[in-house]
Amino acid sequence: MAFDARHVYYDGKVQQSHGDVFRTIDPSTGNTLADIHSANPTDVDVAIFSASKAFPSWSSTPPMARSRILLKAVSLLRERNDEIAKLETSDTGKPFSETSTVDVVTGADVVEYFAGLVAGGGLNGETIQLREDAWVYTKKEPLGVCAGIGAWNYPIQIALWKSAPCLAAGNTMVYKPSEVTPLHAQVLAEIYTEAGLPPGVFNVVYGAGDVGGYLTSHPRIAKVSFTGQVATGKKVAGSAAGNMKYVTMELGGKSPIIVLPDADIENAVDGAMMANFFSTGQVCTNGTRVFVPEPMKSAFEQKLLEKMQYIRAGNLSNAETNFGPLVSRMHYEKVMGYISHGIKVDKAKLLYGGLEKPEGLPEDLTNGYWVRPTIFTDCTDSMKIIKEEIFGPVLNILTYKNIEEAVERANNTELGLAAGVFGRDLNMAHKVVSRLEAGITWINTWGESPAEMSVGGWKQSGVGVENGRRGIEAWVRNKSTLVDMSDTIQTVFAKL
Ligand code: NAD
Repeated sequence: MAFDARHVYYDGKVQQSHGDVFRTIDPSTGNTLADIHSANPTDVDVAIFSASKAFPSWSSTPPMARSRILLKAVSLLRERNDEIAKLETSDTGKPFSETSTVDVVTGADVVEYFAGLVAGGGLNGETIQLREDAWVYTKKEPLGVCAGIGAWNYPIQIALWKSAPCLAAGNTMVYKPSEVTPLHAQVLAEIYTEAGLPPGVFNVVYGAGDVGGYLTSHPRIAKVSFTGQVATGKKVAGSAAGNMKYVTMELGGKSPIIVLPDADIENAVDGAMMANFFSTGQVCTNGTRVFVPEPMKSAFEQKLLEKMQYIRAGNLSNAETNFGPLVSRMHYEKVMGYISHGIKVDKAKLLYGGLEKPEGLPEDLTNGYWVRPTIFTDCTDSMKIIKEEIFGPVLNILTYKNIEEAVERANNTELGLAAGVFGRDLNMAHKVVSRLEAGITWINTWGESPAEMSVGGWKQSGVGVENGRRGIEAWVRNKSTLVDMSDTIQTVFAKL
């Protein structure tokens, strides 16, 4: 096997797991990478117990001291960037050109951001002078033991986006990575331990939905931070709500891009390509519904077709490769099902790509889960490929007559994760973006999600935000104290 087997991690070290064993696969070749030992319910109980034991001391460690440990973890992550990026490339099938410049980097940035925020007073409350002799003060207190549940598309980045604010705020965590891409979790746990995080503050359990379900509904879990599909998120949020747990839900999308009539076509095409083909389209914020003004359609398509040759599938460690396979056989079948449906049932016009494998793949990659980047045009709002999240490299072009109509159609979905506008007239771009029903919006760019920017979905795409100043609020609860110094108690039970 290319990597050591994985077992649960708690009390600051790897421990024996007692659940079923499954395998993680290199999606570029179909070869097995490692055996992953699931946690059984007792393993999960013990990991939660380890996190509970660690909570009193970690939550009362001064924020500055917690920050110092997290900053050490940031240095270790950056020192080991390429080593971790290689592991992520093997597990996810994303090219090394991407994992080495995005995944670890944007995760480490978030740890640095929250370490800085709490060291700089980000957990301070308010004081409110009520009267001369009375005031209120508030405190932001950690919640307790939190569960982090990861999706497979940005494994270490998701783990860092969850654990950074969680730990910075003084909570402890039991993290379950996706069963599809679990390799990063032990590396991260070891880095946190090496950085000085006390045993039990960050713990890992492995497994599929049953392990996730057991963890998130556990009575000792105070909060669930979940990233995944809308359908799973609804189940997890439902069970958490029934037990009054705090939740953050980062779910799927079907995001629109509106290309305004005055847009620079080349910029809009570059943006639309990044919004659909980066990470082989396996990005939650993908802008898969591209609304183009009718008169611009042919020029837009022509420029897009010119640029499709710059998508390069191939050996994932080559610096020029910028397009990998899909993450798993199951996901491959799902995406191919949508492409086939688009051609045969929706009868959208296939402008590029389709059901064949990308051309020119080396011999050793032919068993991998490769698809061709695909473009449909002449799409209509009622098509399945326009309504449902495909989570693959499928760009759909829809035309519109006027901006009013484009906004209305863009908003005509239950999902509200991201949206964007391309146009030269910034006043118009702001006006349009302000009417789009989505939590993450971009003007003349797509996809960048820096640590400073709070991101989260509207409508069915989620609850709460990650990152930015607001991101810390999801990991604390408020305590208000009213202090009265008047030495007299205001009472209605006095003698008449
Ligand atoms: P998924 O819902 O299938 O699985 C996500 C995680 O939930 C996995 O770890 C899985 O084991 C776990 N899980 C499954 N059933 C569970 C249950 N009953 N209780 C608790 N945990 C359970 O999602 P996926 O296919 O891994 O990820 C792809 C989806 O994630 C896409 O829809 C994508 O849009 C979304 N996503 C959203 C964001 C965001 O920030 N909004 C980011 C990345 C991915």
